[in-house]
Amino acid sequence: MQVKAYGAQSGDHPLEPMRIQRRDVGAHDVRIDIAYCGICHSDLHQARGEWPGTHYPCVPGHEIVGKVAAVGAHVSGLRPGDLVGVGCIVDSCQHCVDCEAGLENYCDGMIGTYNFPTADAPGWTLGGYSQQLVVHQRYVLRIRHPEPQLAAVAPLLCAGITTYSPLRHWNAGPGKKVGIVGIGGLGHMGIKLAHAMGAHVVAFTTSEGKREAARALGADATVLSSDPAQMAAHAGSFDLIVNTVAAPHDLDAFLALLKRDGALTLVGAPATAHPSPNVFNLIMKRRTLAGSMIGGILETQEMLDFCAEHNIVSDIELIAADQINNAFERMLKGDVKYRFVIDTTTL
Ligand code: NAP
Ligand code: ZN
Repeated sequence: MQVKAYGAQSGDHPLEPMRIQRRDVGAHDVRIDIAYCGICHSDLHQARGEWPGTHYPCVPGHEIVGKVAAVGAHVSGLRPGDLVGVGCIVDSCQHCVDCEAGLENYCDGMIGTYNFPTADAPGWTLGGYSQQLVVHQRYVLRIRHPEPQLAAVAPLLCAGITTYSPLRHWNAGPGKKVGIVGIGGLGHMGIKLAHAMGAHVVAFTTSEGKREAARALGADATVLSSDPAQMAAHAGSFDLIVNTVAAPHDLDAFLALLKRDGALTLVGAPATAHPSPNVFNLIMKRRTLAGSMIGGILETQEMLDFCAEHNIVSDIELIAADQINNAFERMLKGDVKYRFVIDTTTL
């Protein structure tokens, strides 16, 4: 079946309308009418070829929400009309230690929602800036938020799980001091989630104008990361800092803020490397410098249910498809509060 989509024909061309093919619904497949798709900074990195290996045409989008349109003969527990989501994963090997642990995100055979190899035309996956998606039921998430919140749920499928997973893994909660660096799509979700988990939350930003908003999102304090005096006031005090920044920068400034055994976890994935941190900033206090990638399907469902229970959604700007290129430019300037979401009826 042909559907409308928006994608890039090359790294130096803006995204444009196009038609793409979706496969027939197989026995274990679910066809989803996409209602909304969030715009992640990873979409920009890949559409513009900033990370190696983009296939063109590239249709980005891995913050997908909509309704089930049809299910295959062997699909159980999902019916047409159900509210569902698809995040960054549409396939994996399903039998390695990572898949068996529910951590498909770390499976060597993980297939991402776009730009990964597939038997479907054109040979690589095409994402959610499109009208429909056909996906194996294992990777379909249930949405329990009320339907009017659907557009604001979309960013949970990547920005939400990418911050939820490290917060859970490093035990954010009451009595823990947690920093979130960068108040963008991921960062603003990190603030909301860490706050809902009961941690003391400090937001680090380069944008003076976002500090008041960060308090409203749930931060107990804010720090202008370019001000050494404000940074020094927090030296040696954090259990965990989750860093979402999409550009290379000085990691030592944040390592110095960790307590003994504290962890600085990188989720931001800049196109070029950070300057190497000073090893003494790690060994002197047995600190950890770590990374984390999205989350498994089980944990993504847990995160969606946690958000439904705590009435957490993303703060979004809903846009029409013809504003996608402008949204990319504004995202680069940090000019978004805090996630663009495409209304896919405008494709
Ligand atoms: P975003 O909305 O653009 O937010 C990034 C934030 O980083 C900005 O709002 C800004 O916050 C801060 N920042 C500071 N200096 C910056 C600079 N020079 N350039 C850009 N940002 C700067 O991006 P996002 O969608 O949250 O994604 C953030 C990063 O995470 C991207 O690299 C993305 O590819 C990556 N990502 C990783 C995973 C994973 O699994 N690990 C998943 C999704 C996305 P302030 O204004 O507050 O300083
Ligand atoms: Zn993403």
